[in-house]
Amino acid sequence: MGRTSVAVRGDSYRAPMRVVEVGGRLVEVHIRRSKRVQGHRIYVRQGHPPELVVRPRASDQEIDTAIALHHSWLERQLAKLTEPSLGLDRLTLTEVQGRREAHARISLLAQSEAAALGVSYTRLTLRDQRSRWGSCSSNGALSFNWRLVLAPHDVLDYVVVHEICHLAEHNHGPAFWRLVEQRRPNYRESKQWLDVHGWEILAYRPPLDAAA
Ligand SMILES: [Zn+2]
Repeated sequence: MGRTSVAVRGDSYRAPMRVVEVGGRLVEVHIRRSKRVQGHRIYVRQGHPPELVVRPRASDQEIDTAIALHHSWLERQLAKLTEPSLGLDRLTLTEVQGRREAHARISLLAQSEAAALGVSYTRLTLRDQRSRWGSCSSNGALSFNWRLVLAPHDVLDYVVVHEICHLAEHNHGPAFWRLVEQRRPNYRESKQWLDVHGWEILAYRPPLDAAA
């Protein structure tokens, strides 16, 4: 169920934006108005669309001019951010191996975490999803992206704990996040890691498994 899943890009909101061509591809630049800005500022962060902050009454033309002014800077920043840094191209893990390993680690964590919280799940399956790390359906079926096995252990652990917490709190309300924090006080670091590196593990192309 999408409602209770860890989305790859987190919960996004629709902000006013401009679609700009940068380095041959279309990029959404979000526009935010702030009283604390005199002229304008532009930010590029991994896992987020570039953001242009302008003064509250900036005109459309000012916004376009600001984007044009930073165009080549934006291009360099975006090129830098999409350089892989995990070294997964040197990995030879096949999907069968990855799924086996992921299943062993995830089911062990899920069992101990469910026991600790006094909740139970009906099923645990592994998937190869493009848009999410895990999900928890209303009937208690859990699914996880096998590619989490390519992430540091704490990150895999966080996603499992996140979904197990949904068995107690079926939404992303404050009570849910309190429970996650209680179980894993450092969960924000794992969340951030997924924002920064998630795309790389989604892009991993495992070598084909040799025929058995
Ligand atoms: Zn969730």
